[in-house]
Amino acid sequence: MRARLLAARYPASAEVLELVAAAYDLIGDAKPAFEDTQALAERLQIALRSQSPVPLRDAVPDVAAYYNNPDPFAPSSFFARMALEAWARHAPLRHPDPAPNECPRCGHAPQLGVLRPAGNGNALFLACSLCRQEWPFRRTTCPECGEADPDKVGFYSTDGRDSVQTQTCQSCQSYLHLLVVEKDLELVPEVDELSLLELDVWAAEQGLHKIWPNLAGM
Ligand SMILES: [Zn+2]
Ligand SMILES: [Zn+2]
Repeated sequence: MRARLLAARYPASAEVLELVAAAYDLIGDAKPAFEDTQALAERLQIALRSQSPVPLRDAVPDVAAYYNNPDPFAPSSFFARMALEAWARHAPLRHPDPAPNECPRCGHAPQLGVLRPAGNGNALFLACSLCRQEWPFRRTTCPECGEADPDKVGFYSTDGRDSVQTQTCQSCQSYLHLLVVEKDLELVPEVDELSLLELDVWAAEQGLHKIWPNLAGM
């Protein structure tokens, strides 16, 4: 599985990637109803207790709270998000009148961007932080504040990670990672995004905040 492969390749991010891999092993192809997600979150937590960092082990997952008023920094959000993802991937959701930076299915914030080959170039899609739905978005534009001035919106890449660009915005001090499919056809956007801890630390040192923290709270 992709998460274990990346865990071996990028030791700084190994802890969260191993945990996510174990969670996906447990969830499998489950299609829980929303009412069942709380029990799923609690089952995940019990099963993964021995592998989880202490803040996760001691947190009480609250699925409805995360869905209605998401707090990605709460340790309990890890299990709530995993359980909600299992539900939301299959549920027939439709968010009424979504803003360009909101998931058209569930209304949650974008986790990351994906550049997918289109015509002679690449088209940008944002990927939901909860249900993983992708939707098209204007390139070289900040999803958080809408800034489109090329002097304010920047792109950074790092040696050895051709498949990653980090898009930053000087207007609102936000950033998000873009995964470039043509550079690595094997990539799984939401899993690869978890392997970029070192870039997240770099961004934090620049005073930037990620538009939406990932499962690791980064
Ligand atoms: Zn969504
Ligand atoms: Zn911005």
